[in-house]
Amino acid sequence: MMGPSTSPLAGMDDSLFLSAKQDNEVLQGRLHKLYQLYSASKTCGMAVKVSSLLVNIVELLKKTLELEEFYLLLKDEGSGFFEIWAADEDLMDITDDLIFREDKGLFASVIESGKPLLLQNIDNDVRFVLYKGRLPNVSSLLSLPLLGADGRVFGLLNIHKKDGRYFRQDDEVFFCSLVQNMAFALERTRLFEKARQEAMHDELTGTYNRRFLYDYANKELSKSLRSNDAFSLILLDIDRFKKVNDNYGHLYGDQVLRELVASLKCIIRQSDVLARYGGEEFAVLLPNTPASAAAFLAEKLRREVEQKGLAPPSTAQREKLTITVGVASFPDDGKSIERLFSVADQRLYMGKSAGRNRLVTFGP
Ligand code: GH3
Ligand code: MG
Ligand code: MG
Repeated sequence: MMGPSTSPLAGMDDSLFLSAKQDNEVLQGRLHKLYQLYSASKTCGMAVKVSSLLVNIVELLKKTLELEEFYLLLKDEGSGFFEIWAADEDLMDITDDLIFREDKGLFASVIESGKPLLLQNIDNDVRFVLYKGRLPNVSSLLSLPLLGADGRVFGLLNIHKKDGRYFRQDDEVFFCSLVQNMAFALERTRLFEKARQEAMHDELTGTYNRRFLYDYANKELSKSLRSNDAFSLILLDIDRFKKVNDNYGHLYGDQVLRELVASLKCIIRQSDVLARYGGEEFAVLLPNTPASAAAFLAEKLRREVEQKGLAPPSTAQREKLTITVGVASFPDDGKSIERLFSVADQRLYMGKSAGRNRLVTFGP
């Protein structure tokens, strides 16, 4: 005969059972937090662009952490103000003009100390009357600093909850780790974007540089070899630029180069690629443009520079400024990038020999 079945927990004291159950819940909670931190570091680690990182951060805060109200402020290095860069959808509309100063106001202490600020109930706090006027759905508030590698605060993540006393003390530690992940990722992506920008651009004029132009031209060539579409290259060089430097100084010469770029940009199309080819020599790559259309645009550039001339600060009257221009086109003038650059260069120097301030599009 079988006796009454015995549960493995039989004899276990109720309080022991309850305590094991609580321990289990605590462990589950910790596991969940670890998972959230793991997700955060994965999300933040993947992005290479600031814009996509911010999208990922919003997604993470909403979906994985299930936060309803939050916004991320980043310091504008120019003004020194902290401005909204990302927020949950509802807050984005009402916070887009919200700005905080680092030296005064509600979050100055967070920015100065680099320590988080946890406020469990701001309902009756007079300092928050205006804040609640703008953002009424908030009773608990956690403000977290984004610390840079230099130890300075370059951003804040503010999280709201409708209920007072929502955050627990250990939430602070958890959110600090989370935000540090974001701070690392933001600094990394910003550096990456800056390095990329510098590698592609000329520092003085902000145009693309020669290396970028060659890369772009090679891609254009591969495309055009497949599609059989024409494309053109314009090389232009300022006439007697040495004199401008000699007469008015190198700094004024630099300004002339920047102004020339601004004039050229007004005329070329969005799809054309303007690059600084050398000192006072520039190149424009014109995708999908045959020789005749390129010559038309090149002549427009030449005329624009001639009409504008120079207005040196030390003289009352305007002076002459001209450019000489050489054009080469694929496929008529060559089927390699080296050949096209060489032909455009030869034509440019033919124009120089023939007296400058002119355009050469075809051979002699
Ligand atoms: P040409 O009509 O034959 O082109 O005469 P040019 O005087 O323009 O040509 P040259 O090659 O003799 O001199 C180019 C001048 O451009 C000399 C150089 O100092 C100046 N230059 C090159 N890069 C810069 C720059 O970044 N800033 C300034 N201010 N001048 C530059
Ligand atoms: Mg020159
Ligand atoms: Mg030159």
